[in-house]
Amino acid sequence: MKLILSDSDTRPQWKQQLSNSIVSVHKLLAILEINPSTLNLSEQANQQFSLRVPLPFVEKMTKGDPNDPLLLQVLPVLAEEEQSPGFSLDPLQEANANPVPGLIHKYKNRVLLIGAQTCAINCRYCFRRHFPYQENRIGSKDIESIIQYITQHTELDEVILSGGDPLANNDKTLNQLISQLNNIKHLKRLRIHTRLPVVIPARINQDLINWVNQSRLPITFVIHVNHPNEVDSALADAMAKLRATGNMVLNQSVILKGINDNAKTLIRLSEKLFEAGVMPYYLNVLDRVQGSAHFEVTEAEALQLIEQMMINTSGYLVPKLVRESAEIPYKMPIK
Ligand SMILES: *Cc1c(COP(=O)(O)O)cnc(C)c1O
Ligand code: SF4
Repeated sequence: MKLILSDSDTRPQWKQQLSNSIVSVHKLLAILEINPSTLNLSEQANQQFSLRVPLPFVEKMTKGDPNDPLLLQVLPVLAEEEQSPGFSLDPLQEANANPVPGLIHKYKNRVLLIGAQTCAINCRYCFRRHFPYQENRIGSKDIESIIQYITQHTELDEVILSGGDPLANNDKTLNQLISQLNNIKHLKRLRIHTRLPVVIPARINQDLINWVNQSRLPITFVIHVNHPNEVDSALADAMAKLRATGNMVLNQSVILKGINDNAKTLIRLSEKLFEAGVMPYYLNVLDRVQGSAHFEVTEAEALQLIEQMMINTSGYLVPKLVRESAEIPYKMPIK
């Protein structure tokens, strides 16, 4: 007799790829055929926030190029050890808007639910690199208080699963969470902020599509791509599956010095995203988190890039340039 196994019986392909992620700097450089002595690596930075990158993302890097724009997003380097004025551990003071573990309620109609304590990839510029995920790990009791908080706060119409990376959870867990949220009458929309499909396109599997299709509430996906080289046919195929559910897929990027801080790259990124069915949403200026100062592009420079984009491409391919701030209850447009 032949057994028919569903995804939940076997370990799904994306989970295998997740556990096969590269966590050794030297192994990564060996795969890329780059001599470590040509780079300013930092063991201290790596210990503070360790290298982590799945192989499908490594495969999009160019062999032999120490300045590869995807490599620069994950490599722990000496510049991270610099203490720069204005760069802090919790630049957004999210600790102040944390009413229940796992929940950040800073904007009026929408809350962030920290849907996982880890990410599939550790991005060096990330403001969550110092976030106390351990204290915000969601257990079943916390889920109860989260659901209770959202139920009591009728001004909320949208719940955003954020991270860590919410899609690092398995589909069974996500399915349960989504159905609990679906039962809250005043909610109108759900959103999932994720970088997982970008680094492991196989994450968009049939089990995921099933719970997305079952949701009463529309689920908008906001992926996170910074450079056109991150968009390949595997990502495009994954996005086509998501789009086929009838939901919206948007992208947010961070403007990063030496990675995407020129108009040609940003336009190419918007074009490739559009071809994959993804619309540009936000272009964030860097959150001023300790260890990321070498990535900063000034607001004046960023504005010039946006102007170049407006001159040279279609209006809907130009993302909104925004800054997040501890005081302002929305993403502040930069003008
Ligand atoms: C970014 C963010 C949101 C979502 O903002 P939108 O402008 O709706 O995309 C919600 N809450 C917090 C705390 C955020 O940082
Ligand atoms: S939260 Fe997003 S940007 Fe930050 S490390 Fe995770 S995937 Fe990267």
